[in-house]
Amino acid sequence: MKPGRVLLTQAQIHARVRQLGQGVSRHYRGQPPGQRPIFLGVMNGALFFLADLLHAVDLDTEISCVRLASYQGTQSTGRIRGLGVLGKSIAGRHVLIVDDILDTGRTLSALARRLKKLGASDVKICVLLEKRRRHEVAVRPDWVGFKIADEFVVGYGLDYNGRYRTLKQIRILSKN
Ligand code: 5GP
Ligand code: MG
Repeated sequence: MKPGRVLLTQAQIHARVRQLGQGVSRHYRGQPPGQRPIFLGVMNGALFFLADLLHAVDLDTEISCVRLASYQGTQSTGRIRGLGVLGKSIAGRHVLIVDDILDTGRTLSALARRLKKLGASDVKICVLLEKRRRHEVAVRPDWVGFKIADEFVVGYGLDYNGRYRTLKQIRILSKN
């Protein structure tokens, strides 16, 4: 298995992330003063997206990360590992979850639920990619970079068993 056809170029990704940054900034600027949003990156996949998005927003933010994993190879295991690794008080805060891709929806719905339980007063979701398939769990992201076909992609943070995260483009994983 290796990276095949380029789905999104570096220029396309950067242009879209800039637009997302503007939309996110507009939204949080409209919130009552004193509410500094926490940008919560889901590691490792959202590493580059989180950094680029933060560069594209013009806001007073805080940054935090969680590490979650549900995939082995190209298959969702259905189990989310690592929930709860959050070294920050979430109670009463506005949290923006930043993730690489929405696929089955399990990861993001579990995380959003967990944040609400921890007392977050508002939870929003920003994903770079959303797969055009019926999500197994209902999740409505507030910002989506690109809707893509139901294929396994790598690059710009997205891995295949730990590889290909540092590719500058997003490519479709191919058998040959
Ligand atoms: P979900 O819980 O929505 O099924 O899965 C979300 C997580 O699975 C993503 O954050 C990502 O880490 C991983 N994932 C889902 N689809 C893909 C894909 O096409 N490529 C890669 N590299 N990871 C994926
Ligand atoms: Mg992920």
